[in-house]
Amino acid sequence: MSAAPLLQVQSLRKAFGGVQAVDGVSFELAAGELLALIGPNGAGKSTCFNCINGQLRADGGRVLLAGQDLAGLGPRQIWRRGVGRTFQIAATWTSMTVLENLQLALLSHEGALHRWWGRAAERHREPAFELLRAVGLEAMAQAPCGALAYGDIKRVELAIALANSPRLLLMDEPTAGMAPRERHALVALVRQLVRERGIGVLFTEHSMDVVFAHADRLIVLARGQLIAQGPPQAIRDDARVREVYLGSSLAESGVAAPRVTS
Ligand code: ADP
Ligand code: MG
Repeated sequence: MSAAPLLQVQSLRKAFGGVQAVDGVSFELAAGELLALIGPNGAGKSTCFNCINGQLRADGGRVLLAGQDLAGLGPRQIWRRGVGRTFQIAATWTSMTVLENLQLALLSHEGALHRWWGRAAERHREPAFELLRAVGLEAMAQAPCGALAYGDIKRVELAIALANSPRLLLMDEPTAGMAPRERHALVALVRQLVRERGIGVLFTEHSMDVVFAHADRLIVLARGQLIAQGPPQAIRDDARVREVYLGSSLAESGVAAPRVTS
């Protein structure tokens, strides 16, 4: 029997009042795969993420990690099983150096946060450097995080997420607020890490340029429902996807919209 996929989402549902934010969504993600979740604002992308990572309790459906049902587990337990995330992390300590932030993340992974920081200062120095190398920030190790450019803080957040040795990494709009060139660089880096470490990554991204350039596969949500999935070229040519994106970011990104005939 072959091993279960890294992530299986089956008939996931979540409503807020009368709004069916996620409406029966099913997909799979393999280890070593960079999977983009796209869709217009309000499509249900963040709600999907939050049901997978345990921040929200789904109304129905199942989420399985390497074949194991995550039902009933809280965010911390799911994180412990190897599901990392990078969104909403203003969690770098601005007064500490980049290196210290990484050491702290490694201590936290070890469950040793209660130890006196002063004694811990030498701990995990090499692994922390190694993570900084992995995200191209070794030269900034001794800089206070508060002095970093925005794009570099995003790289520190990525390194912090990697400190937990995730099997699956969830990245909700990891490049929000970044310039186009930085966006490409960050997602290219993530793609490289996915390959090297065999982790699975699910990410959302508004720039279709970036998505089509780097994702292995795309899934498309519209009004809570999955309307298409496949490799970038197939998604680009999908009539329903074009309909959803007509006149919006897909067109802006230079992907020609279909000719409208009356
Ligand atoms: P996306 O991330 O694709 O932009 P969301 O998952 O944030 O979409 O939202 C999906 C729908 O659910 C939207 O209609 C949004 O207004 C609604 N929604 C999301 N979170 C909440 C919440 N906490 N309370 C009420 N409605 C919400
Ligand atoms: Mg969102």
